[in-house]
Amino acid sequence: TEKTMEKLVALCKGRGFVYPGSEIYGGLANTWDYGPLGAELKNNIKKAWLKKFVQENKYNVGLDSAILMNPQTWIASGHLGGFSDPLMDCKECKTRHRADNLIEDFDGTNVAGWSNEQMMDYIRDKGITCPNCGKSNFTDIRQFNLMFKTFQGVTEDTKAELYLRPETAQGIFVNFANIQRTTRKKVPFGVAQIGKSFRNEITPGNFIFRVREFEQMELEFFCKPDTDLEWFDYWRSYCRDFLYSLGIKEENLRLRDHSKEELSFYSKATTDFEYLFPFGWGELWGIADRTDYDLTQHQNVSGKDLSYFDPTDNSRYVPYVIEPSLGVERLFLTIMTEAYDEELVDEAKNDTRVVLRLHPFLAPFKAAVLPLSKKLSEQAGALADELSKKFMVDYDDAGSIGKRYRRQDEIGTPFCITYDFDSLEDNCVTVRDRDTMQQERVAIADLEAYIAEKINF
Ligand code: ATP
Repeated sequence: TEKTMEKLVALCKGRGFVYPGSEIYGGLANTWDYGPLGAELKNNIKKAWLKKFVQENKYNVGLDSAILMNPQTWIASGHLGGFSDPLMDCKECKTRHRADNLIEDFDGTNVAGWSNEQMMDYIRDKGITCPNCGKSNFTDIRQFNLMFKTFQGVTEDTKAELYLRPETAQGIFVNFANIQRTTRKKVPFGVAQIGKSFRNEITPGNFIFRVREFEQMELEFFCKPDTDLEWFDYWRSYCRDFLYSLGIKEENLRLRDHSKEELSFYSKATTDFEYLFPFGWGELWGIADRTDYDLTQHQNVSGKDLSYFDPTDNSRYVPYVIEPSLGVERLFLTIMTEAYDEELVDEAKNDTRVVLRLHPFLAPFKAAVLPLSKKLSEQAGALADELSKKFMVDYDDAGSIGKRYRRQDEIGTPFCITYDFDSLEDNCVTVRDRDTMQQERVAIADLEAYIAEKINF
C-alpha cells in the first residue's frame, strides 16, 4: 500500500539508510544518497550476490570494466539506434509520459511490438487522459534515446562524444576473448560484474525503484548453441533460489515468461522476476537467452574474431549467452519491503514495535553492545572493540534498555548484547534475538562463534 511506501521512505531517511540527493540545495529530483546504514546494506547485498554468483559458482569469474567505452560499442549493441522510449508530452500541463506506460496503466494492455502509430491511435480512441491534469491532449510520439551523452577532453565536438553506459553487460562482451584467453576457461563459463549504469529515464520514480543512476549486478553466461535453453532453466532456478535464501517469500515473487510477441527479436526466452512492491508488481530481475546476438554484433562491428574453439568436439562457434540482470537498488527496495514489519508486542498496552527482519548476512550491524549502566562502559566498550574486528557492531549506552532494543529492531540488528553487573563476575552477556525477542546467556568467549554461525549465508 501507499502507506507502507511512506513508512519505508520515512524509516530510510530517519535512520540513515537513504537520503534525498543534494538535499541542502533543494534536492535533485529522483537522486538518492545512501547513508551509513544504507551503504552497509548495499554492500552486503553485493557481497551476497558475489558470494553466490562468483565465489560459490564454479563456472563464473568476475570483472570490473569501465563506464566510458568506445562509442562503437553502442553501435554494435544497438543502443545508439534502438535504446529509446516512446515519449509523449501533455499539451495542457506540459508533463512527459511514456506512451506504453499510459496504455498499460490505463487498462493493462501489453503493447509489446506495437508501432508508435498504433499506440497513438489507441490513446486517442480510448480517450486516455494525462495522469497529472486529467486532460486528453497529447503530442505525437517521439523516440527518446535513454543514453546520457558527455564529452571527453577539452572540446565539445562530436568526435569527443561519449556515453555513460546504460548497462554493464557490454563491458563483459567486449572482454569475452581477453577473459577466455587469460583464465583459460572452457565454455560454458560466465562473467559477473557489478557497476553503475545510467539511463535518462522519462518517468523515474517510486522512490529508488526507477532512477537515472543505478547499479547493476549482471552475469553473462556463455554456452554452446543448443544448450542455451537448459542453461536458461539452470540460471532461472539459481536466481530464484538466491532470492528465497535471502528471505524473499514465494507469494511475493512471480516469474513471468515473455510471450512470443513480447520477446526481443534476438531473444529465444526471457523471464521477468516480478516482486510485489508496496506500489504493486514490478520487475526486479530480467533473465534472457540472448542467443549469439551480442558477440556476433561485436564481431561484425569490430572486425575481431570472437568465436570459440571447443576442444570437446573440435567445433568452432560464437557462444550463446544467458543474461540474468539485476538492479542493486531494486533488490534493496525488495529486501526492505520484505523485512519491514510492525508487531504488536503487548495488546493491553497497545504497544507495537517496528522491526526490520533482515537476513543477518544483510543487516548493517550484526550486533549491538549495550551496557546496562554507564558504569559498565569501559568493559562493554572493550567488548564492542573486540567484536568489531570481526563484524560491524554498534554501541549504544543512551536511554533505557527497552528503548535501545527498539532502536536496534528498527534498523534490523539481529543481536543485542547486554553487558550487566553479573557480566563482571561470570564473563557472560545476555543476547537478545531480534525476531523472537528471546534472551539467552552466552559466555563472552563464545560470542564470536555464536554470531558467526547465525549470520552464515
Ligand atoms: P524497465 O522495463 O523497468 O525499464 P528494463 O526491462 O529496461 O526495465 P533491463 O534493461 O532488463 O530493464 O535492466 C535489468 C535490470 O536493471 C532491471 O531488472 C532492474 O533491476 C535494473 N534497472 C533497469 N533500469 C533501472 C532503473 N532505471 N533504475 C533502477 N534499476 C533499474
